[in-house]
Amino acid sequence: MSTKVAFIGLGIMGYPMAENLLKAGYDVTAYNRSPEKAQALASSGGRAAASVAEAVREAEVIITMVPDSPDVEEVLTGEDGILGNAAQGALWVDTSTIRPDVTMSLAEQAREQGLRPVDAPVSGGEQGAIDAALSIMVGGSEEDFEAARPVLEAVGRTIVHVGPSGSGQTVKAANQLIVAGNIGMLAEALVFLEAHHVDTDAALKVLGGGLAGSKVLDQKGQKMLDRSFDPGFRLELHHKDMGIVTAAAREAGVVAPLAALVAQLVGSTVRQGNGHLDHSGLFTIVEQLSGRSGDSSDTTGGGR
Ligand code: NAP
Repeated sequence: MSTKVAFIGLGIMGYPMAENLLKAGYDVTAYNRSPEKAQALASSGGRAAASVAEAVREAEVIITMVPDSPDVEEVLTGEDGILGNAAQGALWVDTSTIRPDVTMSLAEQAREQGLRPVDAPVSGGEQGAIDAALSIMVGGSEEDFEAARPVLEAVGRTIVHVGPSGSGQTVKAANQLIVAGNIGMLAEALVFLEAHHVDTDAALKVLGGGLAGSKVLDQKGQKMLDRSFDPGFRLELHHKDMGIVTAAAREAGVVAPLAALVAQLVGSTVRQGNGHLDHSGLFTIVEQLSGRSGDSSDTTGGGR
């Protein structure tokens, strides 16, 4: 009989992950706050639950994929939540990106209730979720990691145990710092190139082949040139993640000056009402700071 999986949160990432679990032969019961998405998954062979409690009651593995720390807290400890309704010994795999300290505390509560908690935040974006090619940084005991591995292999390709509960989230925070910094530098480079009237398609091609090349450049460069910022990964979620990075750095007694600067730029883009854009939309604030908003031609007399 196939393993029973409960999946909570069928958003941009959760839906394709749940679909990949179905494709891998898991018996998936899904709950989503807005019920339509769970019903859509039911038409692909899953089952729709009307509540978290109903989804998790018979599950051997429970996966959560919701936006932020309070959302995970609510799904876990709420009246109708996982703690009060899951079977003893069930694995709880949280793939959301949340604060490491919250993860540590929730993992402790889960253990006290007889659950086996694993934090397993992911990287690779929507396309990585669709392709079951996510990179997954896992925190928890060695034994629980091994128990969770088959399920994670159905949604990801690079799956690494990085330490005890909370460690996965700490590594994910570092991931988000690197990605935001890369996006910020790429945006500055493209605004700079446009101001010099350089052929930006040619520039992207050659930059991509050298040391400046990166997955960020490959995936986000053309989006910036096209001003095409449909999410993907929403800026407001990256704003949340930059808050996690800066707080965790402070807590550890280290400074992260570039993180602080990029966090301010991300925060400003969100405050301008652009939190719904893909994180490549950080380009808009870099453009604005140079007085070149919304126009790829040189309107300022800048350049040479
Ligand atoms: P999303 O598209 O906004 O989806 C969030 C899902 O959580 C939705 O199904 C939403 O339900 C549900 N939800 C929100 N609050 C809830 C609550 N309090 N209780 C129950 N369900 C709730 O977000 P996403 O892009 O999939 O991101 C999910 C997580 O993955 C975040 O932590 C994010 O940082 C991380 N992540 C995202 C990406 C990416 O590229 N998008 C990549 C790596 C990691 P409704 O449908 O009712 O709104």
